Amino acid sequence: MYCPFCSAQETKVIDSRLVADGHQIRRRRECVNCHERYTTFETAELLMPRIIKRDGSREPFNEDKLRNGLVRALEKRPVSVEETENAINKLKSQLRATGEREVESEMVGNILMDQLKKLDKIAYIRFASVYRSFEDIREFGEEIARLDDE
Ligand SMILES: [Zn+2]
Repeated sequence: MYCPFCSAQETKVIDSRLVADGHQIRRRRECVNCHERYTTFETAELLMPRIIKRDGSREPFNEDKLRNGLVRALEKRPVSVEETENAINKLKSQLRATGEREVESEMVGNILMDQLKKLDKIAYIRFASVYRSFEDIREFGEEIARLDDE
């Protein structure tokens, strides 16, 4: 990475060690140009829990799949890419915060719906109608009525 002090492109690593029980690498760097020192942390993105599907099978957390679902629900809605990415990041940190190695797909869906509800109600209803596969039209109507109340 570029030096945060002078933006020089060349820095060298002067020390590197495992921290956070080996889940992070801490690096001390020194800029070749201005000789300022700073620290970077490297963390794997692989710390996401695996997903337990409704049939009991497991699959890796798939961010692209999640993003596609969101983008589909948000089609032609006034929600920016940045807001969408923020929602995904929030979901990921909530999942990580559970500390679980595996989480139910239902939980992922519920967090996602909470995020969507805050972003855009139309998108939320679109997503919920597919995801929850409402038992009947009355149940769906009740959900929309609840939204109106909020
Ligand atoms: Zn520098």
